[in-house]
Amino acid sequence: MSVTTMAGPSRSVSTRLIHADDALNAILPSLREETQDVAPPMHVSTTFRYSRDPSKLQEARDLGLSSLEGHLYSRETAPNTTRAEAILSEVLGGRALCYSSGLAAIFAAYTYFNPKRVSNGAGYHGSYEVLNIHTRLSGLKQLPLDCPAEALGPGDIIHIETPRNPSGEAVDIAFYAEKAHSRGAFLLVDSTFAPPPLQDPFALGADIIMHSGTKYFGGHSDMLAGVLAVKKDEWWTGLWHDRMNMGNVMGNLEGWLTIRSLRTLELRVTRQSQNAQQIVTWLAETKASSDLITRVFHSSQQESTSWLEKQMPKGHGPVFAITFKSPEIAKRFPSLLHLFHHATSLGGVESLVEWRAMSDPTVDRSLVRFSIGIEDPNDLIADLEQALVKLAQISK
Ligand SMILES: *Cc1c(COP(=O)(O)O)cnc(C)c1O
Repeated sequence: MSVTTMAGPSRSVSTRLIHADDALNAILPSLREETQDVAPPMHVSTTFRYSRDPSKLQEARDLGLSSLEGHLYSRETAPNTTRAEAILSEVLGGRALCYSSGLAAIFAAYTYFNPKRVSNGAGYHGSYEVLNIHTRLSGLKQLPLDCPAEALGPGDIIHIETPRNPSGEAVDIAFYAEKAHSRGAFLLVDSTFAPPPLQDPFALGADIIMHSGTKYFGGHSDMLAGVLAVKKDEWWTGLWHDRMNMGNVMGNLEGWLTIRSLRTLELRVTRQSQNAQQIVTWLAETKASSDLITRVFHSSQQESTSWLEKQMPKGHGPVFAITFKSPEIAKRFPSLLHLFHHATSLGGVESLVEWRAMSDPTVDRSLVRFSIGIEDPNDLIADLEQALVKLAQISK
């Protein structure tokens, strides 16, 4: 199976999100009959009947993945997941596989590629815990992101997160792709913070794209999922076999929720990005006259360079962070807000704020992270403003 372009390569992300899975409306590719449902049905079966016609029964030993027609058992493939993967393959520009969580997807990537060395930068602390497991199991050596290229060899991985957690600051994908490829190594990009249409890591040289689907693909804070996308069919097939044997598949219900959520991905993410930009601009101005906020972190606050403009042409990510004068002030701030839930995670339609020390033991304790939702940005700014006024009064 090669990457089949069901919605057409020239169509935009918003059209692909709605039509990339149209070909799967046929009940089975061999039957011309189509389901009548406009909204894809929710399939929960773990097992699927074989043909009643003995002449059509294919034995497992003769069955290649390419001839897989229909579904046998849901640890291998299942209708909702296959449909979600068809849409994700189209919008990510590679072949996608869904996992039970973002960390399960990272674990799967390191299990399949089994590198001797990984060069990785700052980012989500949970991702390092996964690498630590592989270090325990296989002796995987962990090198800093700025290690010399000569320290890497064929089959090794450079692992970047961009924009990175918790600051929302960007890392140059094309630079690290070139560095990896100069040594026969691969570049894995955790692109969770900039889903389509904001960023296309494959276009900049990435070999493996990873997403925590829990965040923007799910988009409603109600499901866990992970996604890997690769360009090479051989890699996809290997990852698929590993997934079947490790059993780290996405659940049927999550597959259905993913499809439902992906339909509105472009609308949500574009709005969240614009909202975040307006709020960051306001906060950066406010910081000038406030002695409480010490810094505003976001890729839009980084020095504007040609690589950054090329990497994020459609806008910056909806996550950013600020640091306050002290950990005590940062700890108080979330409780003064009315429209932001004080909770971890990101990517949902509702805005979240987090005194990051609550969930990340490694972070600056004065840091507060924001994930901006789809509310009216002026309402969010008014809420931030009243909280900062109260904070100034309290900390006098
Ligand atoms: C949340 C997150 C993960 C982990 O994903 P889960 O779905 O929680 O397992 C990995 N990377 C980044 C950047 C994340 O934000």
